[in-house]
Amino acid sequence: MASAEATLRTAMDTGMDLVQISVHAGACAMCVPVQGQVYSISGQTPGFPVLTPEVRTPLHPWCGHRMLPVSPEILRAEGTYEALQKFSVDPDHAVTDVYDYERVERGTFVGRPKAEAIKVSEQFAESRRKKAA
Ligand SMILES: [Zn+2]
Repeated sequence: MASAEATLRTAMDTGMDLVQISVHAGACAMCVPVQGQVYSISGQTPGFPVLTPEVRTPLHPWCGHRMLPVSPEILRAEGTYEALQKFSVDPDHAVTDVYDYERVERGTFVGRPKAEAIKVSEQFAESRRKKAA
């Protein structure tokens, strides 16, 4: 938890208001709905949801998700600002891995229906557990 607090403090100290939740395959049902989304720490950046305690990572013990400060200028320069804004306020779609995420970022995909994303992600986690066993 300390590192999450440090991330938010550093972001705010350097004038950055947006943080993005990292994305990884095999995320749990709790994390799939938030991964890849961009949140406003202060709630002052229009068009992005507020970073409430419910979406601050880590979301559970052993959660591998991190909050990464992102710059709106860089998102605009990359041409991903609008797509990420749309994705971040859409409660019905989610991504299962970086391949999904990259399509969302490019604006060619809105994400998978949330229930499907959770199912695919949990199946991946399960197959990985079987391989490790
Ligand atoms: Zn997580």
